[in-house]
Amino acid sequence: MACVSLPYSAPVSQNLFDRAAVVTPGGVNSPVRAFRAVGGTPRFMVSGTGPYLTDADGREYVDLVCSWGPMILGHAHPEVTAAVQAAVARGTSFGTPGEGEVALAEEIVARIAPVEQVRLVSSGTEATMSAIRLARGFTGRAKVVKFAGCYHGHVDALLAAAGSGLATFALPDTPGVTGAQAGDTVVLPYNDLDAVREAFAAHPGEIACVITEASPGNMGVVPPAPGFNAGLKELCRENGALYVSDEVMTGFRTSRAGWFGVDGVEPDLMTFGKVMGGGFPAAAFGGRRDVMAHLAPAGPVYQAGTLSGNPVATAAGLAQLRLLDDAAYAKVDAVSREIQELVTAALTKEGVAHRVQNASNMFSVFFTADEVRNYEDAKRQESFRFTAFFHAMLSHGVYLPPSAFESWFVSTAHDARAVERIADALPAAARAAAEATA
Ligand code: PLP
Repeated sequence: MACVSLPYSAPVSQNLFDRAAVVTPGGVNSPVRAFRAVGGTPRFMVSGTGPYLTDADGREYVDLVCSWGPMILGHAHPEVTAAVQAAVARGTSFGTPGEGEVALAEEIVARIAPVEQVRLVSSGTEATMSAIRLARGFTGRAKVVKFAGCYHGHVDALLAAAGSGLATFALPDTPGVTGAQAGDTVVLPYNDLDAVREAFAAHPGEIACVITEASPGNMGVVPPAPGFNAGLKELCRENGALYVSDEVMTGFRTSRAGWFGVDGVEPDLMTFGKVMGGGFPAAAFGGRRDVMAHLAPAGPVYQAGTLSGNPVATAAGLAQLRLLDDAAYAKVDAVSREIQELVTAALTKEGVAHRVQNASNMFSVFFTADEVRNYEDAKRQESFRFTAFFHAMLSHGVYLPPSAFESWFVSTAHDARAVERIADALPAAARAAAEATA
């Protein structure tokens, strides 16, 4: 890791982190939160309003993480908060069907044409895990194709070359996943249709599905090359496999209908999470009616959840989705473009080799001059420059994802004042990136 001098301390966060480290492995409940890729003290946040977060030391930040995607309306949006409060007052969990989950499913089906039926779950990991099981149950085949650098949650079979947190820690794999669990996973380079063609040729009649991030954000933002998703769909069709598009990150973010709304390629199954939960644990998988009909209790493939379709989570998700109209997406897209331009200008001014890559309003900065088309390209960047950049932004009150392999996220709440604060922070951060040494 680059040696950076941290410009100020965060004593209350440090104290909380010390306490946390005693009772929680690594002091966090999800690895990237620990700041290990960038060093320093993770900020313990105590509140969020609009585009801002406030940490336990009382310092305010412009938030460019947005809870890793969900908070597309900003923090504590009044209408979402009101919907949650009303739902909580009616009781928090019944373990029965409820109207909220029907309404949320209807909203998803109405927005996303390939989704004829949907099953609600509580996390993106559950969604992809269940989609894979269903694909295997439906096709009667075992093998799953995934792409290096795509993260689909911590599903055993999908933790090979999984980008993001694993990229951050440079772990190619994880102990605890057995050969049997990963043995049916075929990992291919992203954006390489020939590799997919060869995999189908090498495993005739064995591949249940190809799962891909609709537009990857877990190796930084690496959009599919023109025709890549359509090519995947076609190869799957030709070979009797299902095309599974993971829209946990892109769903309801990159457009009203997620990445499907951008490229129009119709998956057989899709997975969702993040935005659709409005900041609560709600996720989903869905797709073709004939495939979904294989799911219990309609069919034989088992899947269940005590808190699936939880009334508070569905109320939050529904309130958020109903506020996400075309005007909201136009706003998020515009502010995203503005910030991308500011970052590009600041780094260019300091002569820092970089590429800002985007997938509609998702974007990230790679510290390399070359286009990043896959995970190998992403790993070639000078991530020590990101470390310096990150800390300079943090010290100027801008909270970036604490890893060079993550998407940045904005919201409808990122207004002119928030953008101005980012603009003010950028010159020093670009200078720090320019001066950084490996
Ligand atoms: N799929 C994608 C594309 C993701 O980005 C993530 C999480 O970041 C997941 C699945 C897993 O979702 P969760 O963290 O809710 O389990």
